[in-house]
Amino acid sequence: MKLVLLGPPGAGKGTQAVMLVERFGIPQISTGDMLRAAVKDQSPMGLKAKEYMNSGALVPDEVVVGIVRERLQQEDCQAGFILDGFPRTVPQADELKKALSELGKNLDSVISLEVDTDALVERLTGRRTCGACGKGFHLKFDPPGADGRCSVCGGELVHREDDQEATIRNRMDNYHQQTAPLEEYYRTENVLQPVDGMQEISVVQQQIVSVLQAD
Ligand code: ADP
Ligand code: ADP
Ligand code: ZN
Repeated sequence: MKLVLLGPPGAGKGTQAVMLVERFGIPQISTGDMLRAAVKDQSPMGLKAKEYMNSGALVPDEVVVGIVRERLQQEDCQAGFILDGFPRTVPQADELKKALSELGKNLDSVISLEVDTDALVERLTGRRTCGACGKGFHLKFDPPGADGRCSVCGGELVHREDDQEATIRNRMDNYHQQTAPLEEYYRTENVLQPVDGMQEISVVQQQIVSVLQAD
């Protein structure tokens, strides 16, 4: 199964992707996670990406397209994958189409998670991530252990620098300008499948699975 999870920052893409990985046994490809790893390693790409990310801007297309192209060629992606946070611009979607067709593949489904702006802000301000294993939490909606640490590995939770209110507004604006046109793009390709992302995490998961199984 070759999937894209589309939706604004905080819609639940990462949360749902992790659950889909377990269910279908295909990898999650999160450009946000890969970029944050590069920033942490201070690789040349990370150094370049850092200021864009901290201001809430998108990293230039050629940087992101390069890492996705490379990732899609790896062995574990051959049976399928879940793209989380990519594509985010029309040129990225065009490049994805090209890369997949070179590999003799095409997308099965683009799940579009629909969530109100107010709910997105609340989700992002309360989002915490384990600094050790990467598991995501929410202070109110998906709380960590009573000790305030990761319930899986005991790691310390971090509040992402770009999940502060001022940066969140920027990211929302950029979403509407640069990413939202992809809904129309994929509707035209007959692969767009909208899912109501305002429901509980487990209900959203059930709906994604039923939409995919109806294909
Ligand atoms: P969220 O989960 O809140 O949607 P991500 O973790 O996916 O955010 O992305 C964090 C940041 O990484 C983005 O704000 C952007 O700067 C950069 N980024 C991630 N994916 C892309 C992409 N496909 N194109 C450009 N920039 C990206
Ligand atoms: P994205 O990857 O789209 O930016 P995340 O999966 O990181 O979004 O979710 C953003 C925050 O909202 C996280 O703290 C997560 O625990 C929480 N969250 C995700 N899905 C839901 C939901 N359906 N209801 C309430 N909170 C949610
Ligand atoms: Zn952890």
